[in-house]
Amino acid sequence: MPDASWSLIIHGGAKTIDPDRATANRAGCLAAVEIGAAILSEGGSALDAVEAAIRQLEEDNSFNAGYGAVANTDGNVELDAAIMDGTTLDLGAVAAATKIEHPISVARLLLEERATLLVGDGADRFAASRGFRERGNAPSSQLDDDHDTVGAVARDQHGHMAAGSSTGGLQGQLPGRVGDSPLPGCGLYADDAVGAVSISGDGESIARVTLAARLMSTLEDQPLKVALQRAFLRLERIGGEAGMIALDRRGNFGVMHNSDHFAIALASSQLQPVAALHRDELKEMFDHD
Ligand code: ASP
Repeated sequence: MPDASWSLIIHGGAKTIDPDRATANRAGCLAAVEIGAAILSEGGSALDAVEAAIRQLEEDNSFNAGYGAVANTDGNVELDAAIMDGTTLDLGAVAAATKIEHPISVARLLLEERATLLVGDGADRFAASRGFRERGNAPSSQLDDDHDTVGAVARDQHGHMAAGSSTGGLQGQLPGRVGDSPLPGCGLYADDAVGAVSISGDGESIARVTLAARLMSTLEDQPLKVALQRAFLRLERIGGEAGMIALDRRGNFGVMHNSDHFAIALASSQLQPVAALHRDELKEMFDHD
């Protein structure tokens, strides 16, 4: 039975946030969560809310995704994005795309295709064939060498869940390098029966420990807090920085990070939109941080 409750949490990267970038990070995260919350409060789907929130973050060049993406060693941008439907376990993802204006929306269209992941020129051509506008492939942001990937996780009033991510990867990355963000079980996962998660951080480390998969498997029979702790224990084995936003299947929130800061915002049928960047703010929201 639908319980008419919904939850949405988004992130703008696990990173160190300079004081002069705090306001932009906070405002950008709040704007994204408000757009997604409007969809969910009107009975819209988790997929629509995740896509809309991430589109907003892709448009904001304070974040390393979409328009704000950083450059690789050639001075070009390469974009990765993914979205997962927790009801059907469908995945749509693009990686190392160079011309896509809104990679999360191209990923969303791929949910309807047999292919789950298109890379490079194939992703660009698929987007063009579906009428997507091109983005120039010069970087438009001057972000520091830090993590700014964006992501969102939602549960709608029908109990359906979705997770998404979008990134320009790492500043100065090798051309063709792809991190965890478009890979299921690494940078994201969603399953209505269990929960959903989206991650930012050191892509190679996150992929090597399949961080999202680790969280999901613990979450099958443990509370979200324990699942987050165990996922971080696994990451500690090899080291690396990460921030995770998650929901359990009932829509309870979880956030954990080992980066200096983690830009997040959340809202639910019970909670007005609120943003946080600092550990002590998160601690107030989640006593397990
Ligand atoms: N995880 C992303 C990547 O490795 C980077 C980030 O989170 O900013 O591509």
